[in-house]
Amino acid sequence: MSLVEVKNVRKIYRVGKEKIVALNHVTLNIEQGEICCILGTSGSGKSTLLNVMAGLERPTKGDIFIGGINIAKLSEKQLALFRQKNVGFVFQSYNLMPTQTAIENVAMPLMFRGISKKIRTKEAVKMLKAVQLQKRMHHKPTQMSGGQQQRVGIARAFVAKPKIVFADEPTGNLDTHTTKDVMEIMVKMARQYHETLIIVTHDPEIAEYADRIVTLIDGDVRSDQKNVSLIPKDEEEIPQSPPQPSEMPTPEAGGNEHE
Ligand code: ADP
Ligand code: MG
Repeated sequence: MSLVEVKNVRKIYRVGKEKIVALNHVTLNIEQGEICCILGTSGSGKSTLLNVMAGLERPTKGDIFIGGINIAKLSEKQLALFRQKNVGFVFQSYNLMPTQTAIENVAMPLMFRGISKKIRTKEAVKMLKAVQLQKRMHHKPTQMSGGQQQRVGIARAFVAKPKIVFADEPTGNLDTHTTKDVMEIMVKMARQYHETLIIVTHDPEIAEYADRIVTLIDGDVRSDQKNVSLIPKDEEEIPQSPPQPSEMPTPEAGGNEHE
């Protein structure tokens, strides 16, 4: 069983009389610990797919199993609890609480789990150190740069060790240099905790950080590939089994031996 199983999912939006097919027929499995990128141009259905996998939106048809639970069948209340327990989010616009410090923002997901304030603070501090923000712990979002705010966002997404972290265009508001920092930190964190990370982006360079790249076109999966550029050289060059005698060139085929 895969951690995430998307089965024949369709999502249709109705706008007035018009029907918009955001997801046509999507079937997809994602494994525990996998870093998976959903790549596609604007309007291809990436955010819709992320939102239905995360239980933020319901599919029009089809099922989504997370750890064996069909989340398409849960009530609103059960879904909210499911998200609190299992899912972390990183947003393009950070979505931090403006009146709260970095520590308070990061500690937030632990509040829903009934963890004491002392432990919450301790865990938040640990996560902020891990994203190299030890000097910004008591800052509020407006007192931080975009890259710093997104690092707070990453610390918050991972603090409760959710099963899956979803990131929708996480570097969409950042410059190239900061994008690299943020992607490296996010991927490192997912690897460290062996967590599943699902990143949505229109940017092929972001996709390069993933183990696997699923490309969406017009609400359908167009391709689903391992990211070969991540495979270490020596692994890539493992020779096939040695040539069998029958495959070896015969002197006749070689042609030159008898001349
Ligand atoms: P992406 O994230 O790849 O840019 P989306 O998943 O946001 O694409 O959107 C896929 C399609 O569904 C687009 O045509 C978009 O206009 C449409 N869409 C998305 N959300 C809504 C909505 N709430 N109501 C109507 N149409 C929507
Ligand atoms: Mg989108």
